[in-house]
Amino acid sequence: MSSRWDTAELATRRLHLALIEPWLIAAKKRRRLQFFGAPDLDDLPCADLDSQLDPASCDPACARFVAHERPQLAPFLCRGDDGWPALSWRWRGVPSVIDLDRFADFDAYRAALKRHSKGGILQQVKKARTQGFYSKTMLRDLHARQCFEIQASKRFRSGPVLAAFVKPPPPADFGSGITLADIAAYLGRPLSEVAQGVAFPEPPPPQCMHHWALDWGAFINDPVQGRDGAIIAERLVAYVFLKRIGNVVRTRGVMAHGDYLARNVMKLLFHDLMGLAAGPPGPARRGCALPALRRDRARK
Ligand SMILES: [Zn+2]
Repeated sequence: MSSRWDTAELATRRLHLALIEPWLIAAKKRRRLQFFGAPDLDDLPCADLDSQLDPASCDPACARFVAHERPQLAPFLCRGDDGWPALSWRWRGVPSVIDLDRFADFDAYRAALKRHSKGGILQQVKKARTQGFYSKTMLRDLHARQCFEIQASKRFRSGPVLAAFVKPPPPADFGSGITLADIAAYLGRPLSEVAQGVAFPEPPPPQCMHHWALDWGAFINDPVQGRDGAIIAERLVAYVFLKRIGNVVRTRGVMAHGDYLARNVMKLLFHDLMGLAAGPPGPARRGCALPALRRDRARK
């Protein structure tokens, strides 16, 4: 259930996107592209977006999901269907895209990562793992309070974090009115046992492999004191909320707890996510490759 703070946060974010971000983009775009070694704005590669809606395999919810996501991608669409630049392209951002077609499998991705950082990033991921951090999918509502604590753990990230300034903590450990008794019933275990700390369930596989929302967290087995004396077995230290819209998987929320940022938990999380996305073909990856980058044929 959305609180009025969530509503205020969303309204503030929309205002920022509409009124402030276009100016920031216009001012910083060229410098940022140079920093990342990207070619000139006019020579940036283009990617096709394919919603992959298939009446034979999708249900009506998929079409609604795609319709909802389309405006989220719109700020990054610099060319129309005809391949020509949109009139407002100067005000639009350039997405940071990892083209999965560049990697035959996860080992190829890891090899590229190793070359890029002289092995440093893989070492950091390994170090985080030896310190007890691990990643897995999660049901966000079961970690609502911990998500808030992550958001409130730093006042400034790429900009001010509203939650860290004014948003009150959620009244319960879990969202959507879920109680510990509900979780015990779901797990089929006594409430007293669940209150002593058990791993919470992960979400079931998505109904459609081409259209889904999936939350992923980095955890450590460091019990957290919950409300009413209950113990929560795992501490959530970072999260990424993913959405797959056809041939694109986009990150929605991305955040690590300020106390754990220096312990490479975000690198571990992204590394493992790429294991899902660039891993061997299978249900998790099926059709999941991000669009192959191609030059814009219309301008050749
Ligand atoms: Zn679908």
